[in-house]
Amino acid sequence: MKKITVAVDGYSSCGKSTVAKALAKQVGYVYVDSGAMYRCVTLYCQQKNLISAEGVVEEVKLKSLLPQIKIEFVNNAETGKADTYLNGENVESEIRSLKVSNHVSIVAAIPFVREALVGMQQAMGKAKGVVMDGRDIGTTVFPDAELKLFMTASAEIRAQRRYLELKEKGQEEPFEAILENVKQRDYLDEHREVSPLRKAEDAIVLDNGELTPEQQNEIVLKLFMEKAED
Ligand code: C5P
Repeated sequence: MKKITVAVDGYSSCGKSTVAKALAKQVGYVYVDSGAMYRCVTLYCQQKNLISAEGVVEEVKLKSLLPQIKIEFVNNAETGKADTYLNGENVESEIRSLKVSNHVSIVAAIPFVREALVGMQQAMGKAKGVVMDGRDIGTTVFPDAELKLFMTASAEIRAQRRYLELKEKGQEEPFEAILENVKQRDYLDEHREVSPLRKAEDAIVLDNGELTPEQQNEIVLKLFMEKAED
């Protein structure tokens, strides 16, 4: 078996992280949630009041403050999962809130933000043996990844999943607001100038709308084995 790089891209809330985490665990790879990094920068902007009510970001200030943003993934012994830390604070739950979701695609469209985070992501995957999920992993971050997946499902199915996820965490929001957010992020992610969300030519499409998590893990593990075999 050789060490490879796995890129998992696709639309918002279509289960990319579930697939990516399960695969990483099964094959002993490092899992990196690149969306969490964009969410951290967004939360930081909100903490520093850098986003106006109209959703305009104070880019000059953000650019000067960007070097002060420290993002880490730290294993949580209790949950067995990695939590996201922003400047030493566990923000795992906060970055998933609708408040952050509503601004993240605007922040993620800023070229210098992307440049900085893509650089960090490339450093994290330098030694291979990584499963990274996001929007531009197979196109920009790791264009040479051996296995590229592009995941999709209908906006309604995805919003329903996100609704249940938030509800479980005690962050109940109206379904319509979540559906609107999912559609709006898809639109912004597909239409931004730098690294828009699109399927890499060599990515394998996985529509998981009708698949159980077990079925999708099985498909993905099989694809991984084919690519990692010497
Ligand atoms: O994956 P997640 O939904 O948490 O990502 C949040 C947002 O971060 C996306 O809607 C997108 O705007 C941005 N993102 C990105 N590029 C990535 C990962 C996420 O632009 N590689």
